Amino acid sequence: MNDTPIPILYCANHPQRETSLRCNRCNKPICTQCAVLTPTGYRCKECVKAQQKTFDTAELIDYPIAIIIAVILAYIGSLIAGVLGFFTLFIAPVAGVIIAEAVRLATRRHRSKRLYQVTAVAAALGSLPRVLILLLAFVIGNGSGMTSIAILLPLAFQVLYIFLMVSSLYYRLRGISVRY
Ligand SMILES: [Zn+2]
Ligand SMILES: [Zn+2]
Repeated sequence: MNDTPIPILYCANHPQRETSLRCNRCNKPICTQCAVLTPTGYRCKECVKAQQKTFDTAELIDYPIAIIIAVILAYIGSLIAGVLGFFTLFIAPVAGVIIAEAVRLATRRHRSKRLYQVTAVAAALGSLPRVLILLLAFVIGNGSGMTSIAILLPLAFQVLYIFLMVSSLYYRLRGISVRY
């Protein structure tokens, strides 16, 4: 039980405003307008900014490096998926992890949500040529039913490859970086 009355706090930025909120990092009193709701509770804007800075360690050079690696490896993966067929379902998530680890090594484990998003998009783009070639073949060979089935199945596996590989890649990159 706590019988002591709650002291009235005033916002650090707005001395006129009473508040009961405190930043859970620097303990500064903040009003609802100054508070930012983060996954770990209310924080002042200064602390949120500081936190983002320590999280974002990526440098400009990391982006082209990550893009090149993701595009090339994702393309190689899409070629392998073209041979594997059904087994793509098991291999695609592994490909995502391999690409994520390669990018992490090449960017010296720099962290940035945007870098992860760019990497994921680059990996998706890298696997697109196979899809486009199959789509083109489908459109051209649309006359005969045999061609359609022979193309539609690999096409479906390619789309699955992209989906599984990119999501596995993105969660691998994000999952590791969350602990800090
Ligand atoms: Zn604060
Ligand atoms: Zn305020």
